[in-house]
Amino acid sequence: MSRSRYDVLVVGSGPAGSTAALELARGGASVAVVDKAAFPRDKACGDVVGPRGLQVLRELGIPEPCGRHVSDVLVVGPTGRRARLPSGEGLTYPGHGIAVTRVDFDAMLHDAATDAGAAALRDRAEHPLWDGSRLDGYRLHGGSEVRADFVIGADGATSIVARAAGLVDARRVLWGFAVRAYVPGTVDLPAIIFWEPTPWQAFPGYGWVFPGAAGGANVGLGLATLSDRTAGARATRALPGFFEHLRRLGLGVEPSVASAGRPLGGWLKMGMVGTTPARGQALLVGDAAGLINPLQGEGIAQALGSGRLAAAAILGRGGHAADQYRSALAADHLPFHQLAAALQAATVGRPRAVAAIARILLRLGRVDALAGGWSVFWNELLAGAPPNTHRAVARALTWVGRVSSARTSTATWFDGLPRDSSDAFTQDSGSVRSAVQA
Ligand SMILES: Cc1cc2nc3c(=O)[nH]c(=O)nc-3n(C[C@H](O)[C@H](O)[C@H](O)COP(=O)(O)OP(=O)(O)OC[C@H]3O[C@@H](n4cnc5c(N)ncnc54)[C@H](O)[C@@H]3O)c2cc1C
Repeated sequence: MSRSRYDVLVVGSGPAGSTAALELARGGASVAVVDKAAFPRDKACGDVVGPRGLQVLRELGIPEPCGRHVSDVLVVGPTGRRARLPSGEGLTYPGHGIAVTRVDFDAMLHDAATDAGAAALRDRAEHPLWDGSRLDGYRLHGGSEVRADFVIGADGATSIVARAAGLVDARRVLWGFAVRAYVPGTVDLPAIIFWEPTPWQAFPGYGWVFPGAAGGANVGLGLATLSDRTAGARATRALPGFFEHLRRLGLGVEPSVASAGRPLGGWLKMGMVGTTPARGQALLVGDAAGLINPLQGEGIAQALGSGRLAAAAILGRGGHAADQYRSALAADHLPFHQLAAALQAATVGRPRAVAAIARILLRLGRVDALAGGWSVFWNELLAGAPPNTHRAVARALTWVGRVSSARTSTATWFDGLPRDSSDAFTQDSGSVRSAVQA
């Protein structure tokens, strides 16, 4: 049995893990990144990297991936009414996203990490290894033991690192499940579709039709299930009915069960609620930390950003990596996620109310200032938005959302999160900077 020791073990080499490994290796840390899949590998996704994700890539000095530019988004209501949400360039982010397959995108990031010096291990992390009460590494399926000063859980929504480190309160997590399929067609604008399988009974999520990276379309359907992971299968069961609905909408695709091949599904862990992002020597990034936007399902940008923040916290001079990481993550995401998670928790299980909200939003979405503000708000683009009416509207929506959700049990869950080094959760989690510099 082989045994090895690194400064940092990263479990999972999706966007979050590869970014963390890349930054750690660039910073001089010895880092191993283990993934059960061989790259290139597929992953269920709408395949759109949003403006904030492209901003992180720029900051990392990684060239924008080849793919199709996407900008404005069409929102289609249950009655077929449409609104176009404009996208605009921010002070810090571009005015577009990119449609790129996860096969290509994730392989590019994985290669960037290994080129920077991260050791890539193809294996499944299975059994946590402990040094007293400290998570010290993993025994892999193949039998080797990898130990490290820090363990980063980048192993996706159903993270075993999060579970082993006791960082998940399963009763509070907001789960979603979504399926996607590639189908023929020509898509001009990415579309998000609110659907009612029965009139005035909204589907508890939404569907999408996105342009394929190299032609065709990526279509899918996702739903929110609160903490109930048995309810996810409904997305797969509902897909044929949703395809039928799409055939009537005239969005440039006419999907059928036959043309869709074998749809691929995956879990989404949303809104940060229920997951403590770091404690001691264990840090969670990307979906493992529950960073998916609860309003529109985006998670790649947050995965890239959190991977970077976790690496910076570990490499930082001050020690207390877990504290630094939690604070940085809270500064970037907590204000939005706290209210977005509460909004989602309040609407799941209320199909009539959601049907009414969808109809109202579609009416409001025809007013340009409101459509632009809605776009900034729900895409979590307020920080870095240029001073204009869209930002003013997004600010107003944020304020209303915060005030109306402040006392919900979802919003108040965050009050219990450890925030500084004096709290009971925190052990001195140190830094690898001194070792790197020695
Ligand atoms: C259907 C669907 C559509 C989506 N569409 C979009 C979209 O269009 N845009 C967007 O921004 N987001 C989208 N998301 C969310 C997005 O896919 C995730 O937020 C993103 O993949 C998170 O990246 P990650 O690195 O945290 O995790 P992942 O990409 O899930 O990577 C986790 C990695 O960990 C590895 N792993 C897991 N367990 C182990 C183990 N025990 N040992 C070793 N390796 C392990 C896996 O093989 C995997 O490579 C979508 C999600 C779904 C399900």
